[in-house]
Amino acid sequence: MSCKVILAQSIAASYRDELKDTIKTRNICPKLVGFLANEDPAAAKYAEWTAKTCAETGIEFELRKCSRNELEDKIVEANQDVDVHGIMVYYPVFGDRQDQYLQNVVDVGKDVEGLHHKYVYNMYHNVRFLDEAKTKKCIIPCTPLGLVKVMEYIGIYNSILPYGNRLHGRVVTIINRSEIVGRPLAALLANDGAKVYSVDINGIQEFHRGVGLQLKKHEVCETTLKVEDVLPLSDVVITGVPSPAYKVPSHLIRDGATCINFSTFKNFDGEEIKKKAAIYVPAVGKVTVAMLERNLIRLYDYQNQDRAA
Ligand code: NAD
Repeated sequence: MSCKVILAQSIAASYRDELKDTIKTRNICPKLVGFLANEDPAAAKYAEWTAKTCAETGIEFELRKCSRNELEDKIVEANQDVDVHGIMVYYPVFGDRQDQYLQNVVDVGKDVEGLHHKYVYNMYHNVRFLDEAKTKKCIIPCTPLGLVKVMEYIGIYNSILPYGNRLHGRVVTIINRSEIVGRPLAALLANDGAKVYSVDINGIQEFHRGVGLQLKKHEVCETTLKVEDVLPLSDVVITGVPSPAYKVPSHLIRDGATCINFSTFKNFDGEEIKKKAAIYVPAVGKVTVAMLERNLIRLYDYQNQDRAA
């Protein structure tokens, strides 16, 4: 078996070292506030993990617990506090459209998770900067961004090609089309030039920018394809199925493909996939947290630029 297994820790390390270095050499103290307004043990665990990682990097992290009905006012308070540079909320809170509303209550200038409508709209429309002068890059949601960074690290992005087209010629299957990860990821990769097969329980959509990348932003087409049609065509297979029972059929994976799992469950059979894949990334969580920190530093700088202007 010649498969190379790459751990998220190794990918996150270079970003975290750079962040630590930036914070230390510039002698800054960015502050992130996390709101926990649910009883979900997974959210509490994620909060614990964020606190530990931030402490190691030199970021001040404060966890604020409140009831879900108090949350909106607490967010507004943090929006107005100049000592708070970034805000995140552990979802689900209400588990319905009210969560979407709360995502837009977070000040766009403090939204480290990139969930505000402005960022989401810009991502789908391939608008990469917040300003005309192109000095402020848009914030991209942490897990999709983390997966992009995983693909850059592995070399799926071809750095010889111009920025914005570096996935031209790549075929990627993503098994998950949630609004939080799968759909934004499909759009990001297609905007960067890939042909993406986006799989969910109801079927497969294709995201692409057309032959020769003639379109400025991706378009989406419904297909009648099945998983068994798209897996053998894919250079990269990314999975996020939230079920311990789900396993990607290893025999359908193209020889030498790259396989990446972001689900908390192991969607690939570890031993079987190593017989087919050239590269296997079993989890990405640590890269996601590194992206959260990176987004925070970016917002910290934008806030200072705005104050100085
Ligand atoms: P979700 O339930 O919102 O979405 C699941 C998606 O998978 C849906 O599009 C669904 O149609 C699809 N799906 C489910 N079963 C399928 C099947 N058999 N075949 C094809 N598609 C199928 O979940 P989510 O919020 O996207 O989270 C998914 C997983 O990713 C969870 O395990 C979650 O914990 C994990 N996650 C990880 C990170 C990270 O940074 N590592 C971040 C967010 C979520």
